[in-house]
Amino acid sequence: MSSEQGANVAAEQKYQGAHPHLVTKIIASYVSHHNLAPEQIPELINSVHKTFDNLGKPSEPQGMLTPAVPIRRSVQRDVVVCLDCGWKGKMLRRHLMTRHGFTAEQYLRRWSLMSDHPLTAPSYSEQRSTLAKELGLGRGSRSRGARRPAAAAAPARRRGRPRGSGRAARNA
Ligand SMILES: [Zn+2]
Repeated sequence: MSSEQGANVAAEQKYQGAHPHLVTKIIASYVSHHNLAPEQIPELINSVHKTFDNLGKPSEPQGMLTPAVPIRRSVQRDVVVCLDCGWKGKMLRRHLMTRHGFTAEQYLRRWSLMSDHPLTAPSYSEQRSTLAKELGLGRGSRSRGARRPAAAAAPARRRGRPRGSGRAARNA
């Protein structure tokens, strides 16, 4: 019995979830109703733990994500598809933020995608870059033109000071 208790304790310690008492209850009840070989008990504990783990996490645990579409089909010429929910559109970035609260980087990491994985439909980004060139929107980075030295804005004014002038003395 002592070796089994050891196994139980090990399983309990590994488990970080919230229902150890419930798990124990279920196992106790199961064992009392079934004829279980002692070596089957750790297995039972494990499977009960797993079940609880899955119940506790409505959002899939990391590494076990199932994409809404196969990753290689998530980028098509005219649309990109959200791997989380199957949303289709020309641009994924805004969808990710508003719908899922992911930044593009989080999304890429979440799905183990390459950093150059397109989040904009290829045809659309082509269109945009052509359009941008046509409209002359290819401005450099924002930081370049936008900043002006603040000092230039406020020219220092000199006030005539009555420094030992006769007029100031008369007025006083
Ligand atoms: Zn989505």
